[in-house]
Amino acid sequence: MLRKINWIQFATLTCVVWGTCLLLSSYAALPKIIYDSGATKYKPDMEWVVNQIGSRFGHTLKASIYLLLEPEDIYDGQATTIPYNATGKNPYIKEDGTALPVDKREPFYGAMKECRITLTKGGGQTWALGSKEIRSVLAHEVFHCFTIDLIGIDANIKLPHWLREGSAMWVGEELAGGSSLPDAQRAWNRYLTGTGVKKDGSPISANLFQRDYDAIGLFAHLKNSKLNPWNLIKSALLAGSSGSSTDAFKALTSSAKKDILETWASGLARLPSLGSA
Ligand SMILES: [Zn+2]
Repeated sequence: MLRKINWIQFATLTCVVWGTCLLLSSYAALPKIIYDSGATKYKPDMEWVVNQIGSRFGHTLKASIYLLLEPEDIYDGQATTIPYNATGKNPYIKEDGTALPVDKREPFYGAMKECRITLTKGGGQTWALGSKEIRSVLAHEVFHCFTIDLIGIDANIKLPHWLREGSAMWVGEELAGGSSLPDAQRAWNRYLTGTGVKKDGSPISANLFQRDYDAIGLFAHLKNSKLNPWNLIKSALLAGSSGSSTDAFKALTSSAKKDILETWASGLARLPSLGSA
């Protein structure tokens, strides 16, 4: 005889049988994502990326995401992310529509209302749907949205570049499972060799605090050290929101500083057990 069950028991049973709970709970946290014309085809990749980051990073986006496609080949790089606050202001563009230089950005933007991601014509738009490359590009940009959502627009402007770009680069490649994106290849190469030239023409430095995208290797090293980079990055973003590289690095390495430093590539040379360099 069939026993009567209430709706909670029914829902639990359905969850167990179909795994719907997991599905429902992950999609329940999905923020509002708006797609510009032509960008709706990226919906499956965007939702996958947002869900993956949300669950690993342990943060639910309060702001909405707006995905656009750039019709002209005007931007350098794969994509760009610009935060807008409730009054529609963003830290990159002046009232008259012209670009605002980094040193002229003023700290009055506050919380982000909308995170606007643009895939460039010659970059992000060229990768196939569902490919590692498009997922890496989207995850990099979406992680910027999560960062800004967590610490605010003003703090994001102040973040050390090695932390902001290095962590986003690592998130993109980690979730994609390693892509063939030229930007990612270049970042790895620079991390390992400490050589190359940045976008602004200045030389790459092997000093972590002077790095940007090429700090990707540090976060990969945290994972190799059996640590959870997602939790550590979150602590470092909060600690580094005043612009201090030292505070961010302390938070990033606090749980196992000795282990991390002794196994970090350039740190190996200082291990007496390995002999003289
Ligand atoms: Zn970036």
